[in-house]
Amino acid sequence: MAKPRQRLEKYRNYNFGRCPRVYCSGQPFLPVGQSDIPRSSTVKIYCPKCEDIHYPRSKYNGNIDGAYFGITFPHLFLMTYGHLKPQKPTQNYIPRVFGYKIHRP
Ligand SMILES: [Zn+2]
Repeated sequence: MAKPRQRLEKYRNYNFGRCPRVYCSGQPFLPVGQSDIPRSSTVKIYCPKCEDIHYPRSKYNGNIDGAYFGITFPHLFLMTYGHLKPQKPTQNYIPRVFGYKIHRP
C-alpha cells in the first residue's frame, strides 16, 4: 500500500477525478474497493460529499483490483485527515415540471 502522504498528494491533485454531481461542486474522489478479497471486483471511486461510489472514468483505473485499496481506505484516510472531510451538500436536486414539484403517489 502506498504511503498516506502520497495518497494525500494525489487527492489534492485530483488524480482520482472529481465528482460530476452539480451539488458536489467538484469534490475530489478517493479510490475504494467493494471487497478486500483480491480479484472480486475492480476499483471504484468514492465521493466523500455525496457518500456514494462511482465507476472510474479512465480505463486505466478500471483495471485496478479493488482489493488493492480495500473497503477501508477512503474512510480511514478521511479520519486521518479530518480537515479534508467535506460537509454534505446542503441542496438536493428537485425535479420540477413548469415550476411545480412532481407528486409521487
Ligand atoms: Zn459526489
